Amino acid sequence: MRKIVKSSLSIIFALLLTFSYLFNPLTVHAKQATTIQELKEQLADLQAQKAKQASAKAQTQSEIRAQKSNIYKAYQEKETISNEVEEAKNKITESEEKIEKASKDIDNMLKYYQLNENGNNYMDYISDASSVTEVIMRMKAVEQITTYYDNKIATLKNLITEKQNLQVELGNKNNELNTKIDAYSDALSELNDQMELIDEISEDIDTQIKAQQDTIKYYQSVCDSETQKLSTCTKDPQSFGWLKPLVKGRVSSLFGYRSFDNNFHSGVDIAGNAEGTPEYAAAAGRVAQVTNRSSCGGNVVYLHVTVNGKRYTLIYAHMLEIKVKLHQVVTTDTVIGTVGGYSTSTHYSKSGYDRCAYGAHLHFGVANGWYHVDYSSWNQLTAHLINPPGFPAKGVWWYKR
Ligand SMILES: [Zn+2]
Repeated sequence: MRKIVKSSLSIIFALLLTFSYLFNPLTVHAKQATTIQELKEQLADLQAQKAKQASAKAQTQSEIRAQKSNIYKAYQEKETISNEVEEAKNKITESEEKIEKASKDIDNMLKYYQLNENGNNYMDYISDASSVTEVIMRMKAVEQITTYYDNKIATLKNLITEKQNLQVELGNKNNELNTKIDAYSDALSELNDQMELIDEISEDIDTQIKAQQDTIKYYQSVCDSETQKLSTCTKDPQSFGWLKPLVKGRVSSLFGYRSFDNNFHSGVDIAGNAEGTPEYAAAAGRVAQVTNRSSCGGNVVYLHVTVNGKRYTLIYAHMLEIKVKLHQVVTTDTVIGTVGGYSTSTHYSKSGYDRCAYGAHLHFGVANGWYHVDYSSWNQLTAHLINPPGFPAKGVWWYKR
């Protein structure tokens, strides 16, 4: 019971210690981060805590090893003591047997002298001796042999006393070791509790770090800079692959330099659809710009999309109708507008306004990165144009997005 109380107290103490350790940063976190920069500072804070826990863990582990080795050594000593006690016991038994044998030898010796005189006792034998010289000689012999045995017995008794004292001493040592082992075991169990706590805290910090990293990653995909207020970052959806902007069609003009009009074609032209056919967002994102009745391109929509964590600007040109609004969030199911280019083209219609369209088609362009399409960044956008991904060779029809 005392032990339970003691170990619960130590757990509470450890909890109190780690409470400040663990929850202090949370009070810091209670002050909501307002920028990616601040989120990163919090992450660094968490990582520092993780490092601290790791070093606390290493420290505790080495203390646990030390206590285990103490316990092991104490048990080894106990083993040695137990062997020594056994040895002392054997010596005592052996000595007692030797004493018993010596006593018997004395008895036999005395009996021998008695028997030689027809059952008379020893004193009678001495007094009845025929010759004084013989009596003296025999008395001397008996005395010498008796003294020899007495000495032998005395030595053995001393040995027994010595071994008994040793036994007591070993018993005391053994008790001391038992006390030590108890203390080591208590310390070890406290260390194990501590270790469990450290593991729990580390796991908790790991979870927090993971969440913080995800948060940072998310805001990096929706914010323009590390210092932009998070509340102003757009929460656009993301795509993890490209879809075609039209359900069916064929590429009629490739991306890149075109000799027939001596021009760099900023996207692919998709033909094979009648005017009014719906055009979809090729990836999820947001409407970045809407341009009506441009003299080259007609009705144009720019999308800012994110595909596999990378940002792209999409261009939809020559539309008959625009179906989205500026800043509107779009998914791949969103109709951006409809195919135009025939009735809007100055080449085919007197009321047309788009001098760059030669028939019904979608001009679809893709640039790496997000650009606000104005005079200052138009060159940036065109410098980052890429061949729109996911289309079959020129002239090859597709019937599925
Ligand atoms: Zn084009």
